Amino acid sequence: MGALEEKPRRLGGGQPRCPYCGLLQDRVATLEQNWVLLELDMRPLAHTVPVEHRWIEPPGGRVTVYGVCPPDQFQRCRIEHRLACPAQPLPGLWPWLTSLRGENARQAERRDDPKLPPLAEEWPDAG
Ligand SMILES: [Zn+2]
Repeated sequence: MGALEEKPRRLGGGQPRCPYCGLLQDRVATLEQNWVLLELDMRPLAHTVPVEHRWIEPPGGRVTVYGVCPPDQFQRCRIEHRLACPAQPLPGLWPWLTSLRGENARQAERRDDPKLPPLAEEWPDAG
């Protein structure tokens, strides 16, 4: 194998392929001495991303979760590839919404309860 042309390595990071979908991810060191696999070239506004999933890049080449609340209106952040991966289920991004979905799933299972009105097959005609 010949030497691959590589960009200068940042703290041993790189761009490994996602084992699920095969796309490239940005492997970046975190301030907590760990690694995180970030989506390439994606910098949404921080306030559009759930709070524990906002990664910012302070000077020094490492990333950290942006915990400022409320976030600066113009602060951009990065997100983990797993949130954007087409081949992985979306994790519970909003904990209260995840528990609401769990409750609704249980309610949906009890849908046959005779006390509840039957499901309408079609929306009533609004005329
Ligand atoms: Zn993927």
